[in-house]
Amino acid sequence: KKKIAIMTSGGDSPGMNGVVRACVRMAIHLGCDAYCVYEGYEGLVRGGDLIRQMHWHDVRGWLSEGGTLIGTARCMAFYERAGRLAAARNLISHGIDALIICGGDGSLTGADRFRAEWPSLIQELEDTGEYTALELEPYRHLNIVGLVGSIDNDLSGTDATIGCYSALARICHAVDLIEATASSHSRAFVIEVMGRHCGWLALMAGVATGADFIFIPEKPREDNWREEMCGIVEHHRKLGKRKTIVIIAEGAIDREGNKITPEMVKDLLADKNGLGLDTRITTLGHVQRGGTAVAYDRMLATLQGVEAVKAVLEAKPDTPTCVITINENKIVRKNLMEAVKETKMVAKAIENQDFDRAMGLRDTEFSE
Ligand code: ATP
Repeated sequence: KKKIAIMTSGGDSPGMNGVVRACVRMAIHLGCDAYCVYEGYEGLVRGGDLIRQMHWHDVRGWLSEGGTLIGTARCMAFYERAGRLAAARNLISHGIDALIICGGDGSLTGADRFRAEWPSLIQELEDTGEYTALELEPYRHLNIVGLVGSIDNDLSGTDATIGCYSALARICHAVDLIEATASSHSRAFVIEVMGRHCGWLALMAGVATGADFIFIPEKPREDNWREEMCGIVEHHRKLGKRKTIVIIAEGAIDREGNKITPEMVKDLLADKNGLGLDTRITTLGHVQRGGTAVAYDRMLATLQGVEAVKAVLEAKPDTPTCVITINENKIVRKNLMEAVKETKMVAKAIENQDFDRAMGLRDTEFSE
């Protein structure tokens, strides 16, 4: 019987439990044994009861649970070969040679590295006499499939990552709550949202809430951003608007690459010689990650989880590791490292202030 393991890694995102549920049940449906690796790569390295067989009813009700019930962690040991050797040993001891990982680009990079190194890890287990060649024969290749769980929607090659629409919904809800008090007191609020290299959350929240002004890393503000923002806010106020909402991504910068902070924006809006607005800062922080997944993320988690099990069973030793994406409403398999490479190139381009390239890369299409 084929044994498939599922794990979540990196930062948690709403929908990860839906992924685990779908993978466990699809694996069982196709006659395989399903396992969960608890605590991300930490569980793979430590083994023992962190790798557990799962049954159909073990994941009952998981669609409506937030976070990840099988835990996630950052694991330093997995960056080292010794850690990955321990991980290989633990998988083999459970009879597992197929792995589905739901995480961000770091987790997916680690997965691809593990798969590429696998034959030499197996060879080492043989050379040290832990296993015989015969015992290792069924485990010569490790098949891995990636799923993107991230609230930032920061992976190139997919239209949406699992969790991003839940985080967006949470932000919109928070802005709605803030707006009520803002208009009561005629105040301005500067709302900081997550997104170091990717402004998707800030941009979409701006569109969805009708914010007065936004700041995102991909489109740094020109030198005159102060005049521009104050001009727009003043215009809106003159039209009778009693509230001002500015949304700022964590990675907001100006054309010179200098960070634009919520404090800078607040001071400007509150400046007595300018608009003189009663201004507050709200940092939404981890609220954005919390709570249950919205319907879209549950649907995405389920459809992609099902596809991941199919893909891991169909994977061949010489095919590149794939990641499951969604493009124009279709669930697609793509080359995992291509997607990661492009994601890193976007981050690099932003770091080098080559913003046109960053935007161009986001639009690039590539296939498996
Ligand atoms: P997020 O987008 O939420 O930060 P992520 O998956 O990118 O998620 P990371 O902290 O980059 O988060 O990676 C999670 C874990 O994946 C690391 O703690 C490490 O165990 C493993 N990992 C990441 N990169 C590598 C790598 N190059 N080689 C081996 N393991 C890696």
